[in-house]
Amino acid sequence: MQTAICPGSFDPISLGHLDVIRRASRLFSRVVVCVVVNRNKHSAFTPEERVDHVRRVTACFGNVSVETWDGLLVDYAARFEEPVVVRGLRALSDFEYEFMMALTNKKMNPRVETIFLAADEKYTYLSSSTVKEIAGYGADVSQFVPPEILGDIQRKFQNRRNL
Ligand code: ADP
Repeated sequence: MQTAICPGSFDPISLGHLDVIRRASRLFSRVVVCVVVNRNKHSAFTPEERVDHVRRVTACFGNVSVETWDGLLVDYAARFEEPVVVRGLRALSDFEYEFMMALTNKKMNPRVETIFLAADEKYTYLSSSTVKEIAGYGADVSQFVPPEILGDIQRKFQNRRNL
């Protein structure tokens, strides 16, 4: 059985991410969201918080599960019989990095296919960094993130401002 793997930092998960996961869940019978712990990237949310966010906002999809992975994506994907990595493509600026990653993963393990879903035009401008920047100033991010995690984001940045 093919398994769609939606990998990412999800720091935090945005409506753009959620749209890609929702569409993958319609295209594949099974989807695993892989919250990648990248040791070279400083994250605002801990891996546990990010997994909790993704679980809460994807609970309505019957075929989506969430895991965390501290390692190379290609090693994670190798655990599945027919792994298909699904990535969202926002703009040309995403393309070069995504193309390089897809080819590198394919070189390391030819069984690992990557497909790209064009970002919905509503979300092509949206990134987790933008959400964090806006939330960092205490401004409203409700149009960018799922409502279930809005309170967590506000609290995180409120606490930081109070430090
Ligand atoms: P990474 O650190 O691996 O880039 P991200 O959490 O930033 O992780 O993104 C995970 C995936 O979601 C990537 O394929 C990215 O291109 C895609 N993505 C990010 N933001 C959006 C968006 N607004 N619309 C569609 N896809 C997106």
